[in-house]
Amino acid sequence: MKVGFIGVGNMGGPMCRNIVKRSNHEVTVFDLNAAAVKSCTDLGATAAKSVADVTKSADVVMTSLPMPRDVEAVALGDGGILAHIKPGQTYIDLSTNAPSMVKKIGAAMAAKGIAMLDAPVSGGTVGAEAATIAIMVGGDKKVFDDALPVLKSFSANVIHMGALGTGTVAKLVNNMMAFCNAAAAAEGLMLGTAAGLDPAKLVQVIANSSGNSNVFKAFSERALSGKFSPPSFALNLAHKDLHLAMELADELDVPLPQGSATHNLQRMARHMGFGGDDSSSILRVYEKVLGRAIKP
Ligand code: NAD
Repeated sequence: MKVGFIGVGNMGGPMCRNIVKRSNHEVTVFDLNAAAVKSCTDLGATAAKSVADVTKSADVVMTSLPMPRDVEAVALGDGGILAHIKPGQTYIDLSTNAPSMVKKIGAAMAAKGIAMLDAPVSGGTVGAEAATIAIMVGGDKKVFDDALPVLKSFSANVIHMGALGTGTVAKLVNNMMAFCNAAAAAEGLMLGTAAGLDPAKLVQVIANSSGNSNVFKAFSERALSGKFSPPSFALNLAHKDLHLAMELADELDVPLPQGSATHNLQRMARHMGFGGDDSSSILRVYEKVLGRAIKP
């Protein structure tokens, strides 16, 4: 199949490179960042000059972009995917988007006879590199089945959730839980070290105890190294995800006391200037307030 990939940053990059490395699909890429494009063309992908260029040459067009407004601009804006895609081609958004934006784009595509899937991913850059990320997909089952050979080329861990938008809802739920977990990890590490525990030993104990989690592993590595940049998952993107989960909760009138506390913590970290750093920078809010760092 011919695959067009738009947005090859921290997540899109390794997903795109895995398609090139692990399958016979022909991959064309576009990104505003030339170095990101090069990391894919070095392995055999072809560089495109524009979104239009990628779209015209592909059976399946995919995006992995930061914010819902970026996806909207690339999908529906002037010179965007919708303007150039034809019936028979499929559009798949791998970004963490707003369910309402997914539906808006899906409706615009459907009006032109184009099928769309929302297929956000989880597992971080480590999972994207290792081709083990979870891909949670919403959209028509037949379109999903037809797209499986492309999706499976960057992870075997693919699940069809239901109608368009359901993949995105699953992703927002997962990320809300992950961020709350990170906030609990920050509090635990600050509490234990305030009592005089050695941070590395405390991390070792938790890693083998009931407080452990996927989140804790990555979070504690950042905490012990004191290195929060470059980000593997930027705080600004995590804040966006939790904002979208809170918006969904408002729509459905579901209380999220943990989610909202964590969202406020992310907001404080952004106001301290950490938005472009790793999302684990929520720890630095506690470190600043208490005047000491976890890093030994
Ligand atoms: P990123 O900022 O590293 O990558 C985004 C890429 O999109 C960049 O290379 C940027 O140049 C490119 N881009 C932006 N606007 C563009 C445009 N108009 N045309 C072409 N390229 C454009 O972000 P990321 O961490 O890879 O995240 C991408 C999406 O995946 C986000 O929605 C994020 O929430 C989600 N996500 C991220 C992670 C993670 O761990 N980083 C995990 C799961 C999901």
